[in-house]
Amino acid sequence: MNPTIVVWRSSQTGRCEPNLFTAICPYCATATGPLEFREFMTVSNWFRWRCPLCGWWYERHDRFPADSPIVSTATEACLVTLDVDSPSLAIVELGTHLKRNYSDLFALSPRRFEQLVCDVFRRNGHEVILTQQTRDGGVDIIVTKDRQTGGFSIVECKRYAKTRTIGVGAVRMLLGTAIDWGAQTAYLVTSTNFSGIALEKADQLRERGYMIELMAASDLCLMLQVYNTALPTLDKLTDDARREIAEHNLQDRSR
Ligand SMILES: [Zn+2]
Repeated sequence: MNPTIVVWRSSQTGRCEPNLFTAICPYCATATGPLEFREFMTVSNWFRWRCPLCGWWYERHDRFPADSPIVSTATEACLVTLDVDSPSLAIVELGTHLKRNYSDLFALSPRRFEQLVCDVFRRNGHEVILTQQTRDGGVDIIVTKDRQTGGFSIVECKRYAKTRTIGVGAVRMLLGTAIDWGAQTAYLVTSTNFSGIALEKADQLRERGYMIELMAASDLCLMLQVYNTALPTLDKLTDDARREIAEHNLQDRSR
């Protein structure tokens, strides 16, 4: 059985107290204030509470139809358990989880691994396109603008089992593909590690001007640090962090 992740999802709820102006988080009992509201006292009220500690939120929308009672509807966050390879999981949720649970990465399908690597590259400043799945030896990810060189690069992803290392054959294949595509840099990203001969070969190729970049598990682990959505506990929140959270709330509202 695959490992699982617990995440917040929205669900309809019947809890709609009409004069509720503060909320207590039902998951961790933290008091939350009405962080956001709009159209207050006109045709409708809209409130959103978010627990600063665990991420729970509750939204209520009151409408005031002419000559009829207030209509209140509410939605709240509830915790659901998903398979780590579930397509219902946002890549940011997956990345945040894998940052601390790297070995769960081995439960991902090769395609999901490609999607993750693509997102990691994008968040690390590259402009990327995830290609369609093919069986003809095409590349997995095209980098239209490489962060380092500003040029065109390709990325091959290999989600190998924990015990398997990448041999020199994969490096030779990558070189062939890079030449074929006219790529300035070619990246090979793996969930595991490279054999000594594969690393030597990449060094030799670099000395001869071929930009081959091998990224092993430790490199990927470092790159996963771009997923930084987890909140620190309340007592550790600095003023800067509080400001940052407030800004995130504002951004969420504008989406
Ligand atoms: Zn909470």
